Amino acid sequence: MAWEVIRKRGAGGRPAANLADYDEAARLFSWAEAAKQLAGLPGGQGLNIGYEAADRHVAAGHGDVVALRSLARGREPLEYTYRELAERSSRFAGALAGLGVAPRERVFTLLGRLPELYIAALGTWKRGAVLSPLFSAFGPAPVLARMQIAEPTVLVTTQKLYERKVAPIRGELPFLRHVVIVGGGDGGLGFDSLLAAAPADFPVARTGTDDLATLHFTSGTTGKPKGAMHMHGAVVAHLTTARLALDLRPDDVYWCTADPGWVTGTSYGIIGPLCVGATVIADEEDFDAERWYAILQNEKVTVWYTAPTAIRMLMRAGAELPKSYDLSRLRFIASVGEPLNPEAVVWGQTALGRPIHDNWWQTETGGVMISNFLSMDIKPGSMGRPLPGIEAAIADRKNSHVEIIREPGREGELALKAGWPSMMRGYLHEEERYRKCFADGWYLTGDLARRDEDGYFWFVGRADDVIKSSGHLIGPFEVESTLMEHPAVAEAGVIGIPDAVAGEVVKAYVSLHKGFTESEVLKKEILAHARKKLGPAVAPRDLAFRPSLPKTRSGKIMRRLLKARELGLAEGDTSTLESGS
Ligand code: AMP
Repeated sequence: MAWEVIRKRGAGGRPAANLADYDEAARLFSWAEAAKQLAGLPGGQGLNIGYEAADRHVAAGHGDVVALRSLARGREPLEYTYRELAERSSRFAGALAGLGVAPRERVFTLLGRLPELYIAALGTWKRGAVLSPLFSAFGPAPVLARMQIAEPTVLVTTQKLYERKVAPIRGELPFLRHVVIVGGGDGGLGFDSLLAAAPADFPVARTGTDDLATLHFTSGTTGKPKGAMHMHGAVVAHLTTARLALDLRPDDVYWCTADPGWVTGTSYGIIGPLCVGATVIADEEDFDAERWYAILQNEKVTVWYTAPTAIRMLMRAGAELPKSYDLSRLRFIASVGEPLNPEAVVWGQTALGRPIHDNWWQTETGGVMISNFLSMDIKPGSMGRPLPGIEAAIADRKNSHVEIIREPGREGELALKAGWPSMMRGYLHEEERYRKCFADGWYLTGDLARRDEDGYFWFVGRADDVIKSSGHLIGPFEVESTLMEHPAVAEAGVIGIPDAVAGEVVKAYVSLHKGFTESEVLKKEILAHARKKLGPAVAPRDLAFRPSLPKTRSGKIMRRLLKARELGLAEGDTSTLESGS
């Protein structure tokens, strides 16, 4: 069905917005001008994300503004001013130095949304070390795979997460010299005691635009996870997009519900809003509709950044529920991570009093690339238009070249003109995989999309087999490899099955080794094995036995065919199919 455009120019004109007029902003924008919005390190020369996010506000006289309000069940909110964040992160940087951690060494976090995550992130950057946040719902296998690639010397985690996810693999991490435990514990050094013993005025490392700051792991269709490398210079894009795409201002109370183990939780849970100077709300708890509405009301949240799965869960909880809360402070709602159904955009308008503004980006882009802006009419179901400074196009890959499709309405791969400040600068140790993402000066995103006659982009699907479940990108290969570790499993193929709430859920197909017999007990056992190793967010929800899996003649499992068969779709080109598959 065609959805009505949500017009932003009402009787009172367009809403006052950081980006007041899209066409004019796009025409006048330059990244060089945008970079002038950053403070830079005192004394000239140098740019450091940690300094931009915390210390610069202290230097500008805003040290007493609340930077972070951390919420959790069963305790009063904890508040940190910009001065406190700056001081504690300096101490963390000093503590790293005291432990002998040099700039460029990797510091991993395996934490929920705790204040210590913010302190460790900012402190790592201020030490000139490289931050890599891991998803706390990962099991030991994904944690191990990522650590083996980046070889961190420090891990910051909690005692509980350490015991469940790290202790079982500790012997395989010879490079890991220090484990820092938030709240203390016998797994490693206590976070608070380390901070207390460190100097409050430890100097910020004089990093530059092209120094590596952050590693975000993402998944492809094949092979190991990829560590996308982002530089300190990316902060120009974080600040600019926080202002333009999220319409953030210093007096905003801002809540990003993303998990800190994924790129949104860092770029827009930590960096963007702190660079703007807003007050950030961080909730340690999982989704709970009533709790979320109460947070929006009680914390007087003005800008809210969330994800389609969460919105669909709120929709399930009903449009009546939000009516019992005062959401009048909420002035802007944005969503990212998976396709946002047009129904959800409109539901926001009726149930929450504001439409939901979808935006699009990915780990590799480091920041929002396509967005529905506050001042721009929304076409429900569209991801919006490219950020000023970003050139997006629909492309057709032709071996190592691309052909740009100019006519509106045609489907192709979403491509971005390479060179914006938060663009990844490599996959760690994987030059070839990195190079394959580019052709003729364009970065190819792996997403299929189309552009309409007004320049709005519409998501069509992924060009590859990666799975998006509850907004989390899951590489089928990682799941298949874990399934294959089970003694009964001879072959495994993993696909995403549509799900009304999570977008997709992971389903596995396996064939068994001789001597094993299909049974409900064995199915449960294999699923439990995967869950234990991968963690609940990544492991398959369901499993089906097959005598054999469809393969190409070269032996590659044809996930597309599995999917077509599962969903009753056309099987497409099967000319490379192995006979008997
Ligand atoms: P990640 O790198 O984990 O952030 O995942 C990025 C991928 O999520 C994109 O390549 C898309 O496939 C998907 N994605 C992100 N935002 C959107 C959106 N607004 N609409 C549709 N898909 C999205």
